[in-house]
Amino acid sequence: MSPQLRPVIDLIEPIYVLEGAGVRLRRSIATRRLDYLDPFLLFDHFGSDNPNDYLAGFPMHPHRGIETVTYMLTGRVHHADSLGNSGDITAGDVQWMTSGRGIMHEEMPQPVDGKMEGFQLWVNLPARLKMSPPRYQEILADGIPVIEREGGARIRLVAGQVGETRGPVTEIAADPSYLDVTLLPGGELEHPIPSGHAAFAYVFEGQGNFAGTEITATHMAIFGDGDLVDISTDSPGVRFLLASGLPLGEPIARYGPFVMNTRQEIEQALRDLREGTFVQP
Ligand code: MN
Repeated sequence: MSPQLRPVIDLIEPIYVLEGAGVRLRRSIATRRLDYLDPFLLFDHFGSDNPNDYLAGFPMHPHRGIETVTYMLTGRVHHADSLGNSGDITAGDVQWMTSGRGIMHEEMPQPVDGKMEGFQLWVNLPARLKMSPPRYQEILADGIPVIEREGGARIRLVAGQVGETRGPVTEIAADPSYLDVTLLPGGELEHPIPSGHAAFAYVFEGQGNFAGTEITATHMAIFGDGDLVDISTDSPGVRFLLASGLPLGEPIARYGPFVMNTRQEIEQALRDLREGTFVQP
């Protein structure tokens, strides 16, 4: 059988939402339009030239049952958490945070030269790992491999594999891939994604042809099943995030920063917070 090209089966227009203490951001997953794309639970694009849109930030808040992946294009996010980590995520850096049974953290965006832009993706944890110890991986920009392909493709590889190169984020249950792809005018990228994995592209600059569908910034394209994606572009080129992951196929009970399998587990999380037993030493 020849490899099957994945078609674009849905196109999502991000909606503006207010999150945290009043951060205006564009959301594509975790909306009425698209509640989740198993194993992905949420996708936010934050960024503005107006600091009033984000300076209030995300003061100390809990998470349980998920992983959050923060990828910065410009500016920085100051963070601190109950594991004792603190520091800045700056342009090109990735923070891959596994909340497991419970973490408290704050995420405070700051401008650099007046600018701030980045993304946060939530990846679900399977039931067997939802109450595992929290884990934190920070990958600085220079630890992310850059692959220059013939045909005008430049790929920053956060997770997954391109050719022989593996991304720095590994040992994630959903076996995700996460690529930041720039295609120059006339460029093309063919990239394999295992059949059965969910996949999306988030186009945030320019425009390109995704398996025959012309898509402009800023939109999310959801791919149907198949073995590979094919993206090409003419002027002015295109830049997008390409993510894929293995669906867990488990029940989802979500309430704000908690995503568990049952209502009872959500209630337990709220009880643990109230009783001060949420974060375990
Ligand atoms: Mn958070």
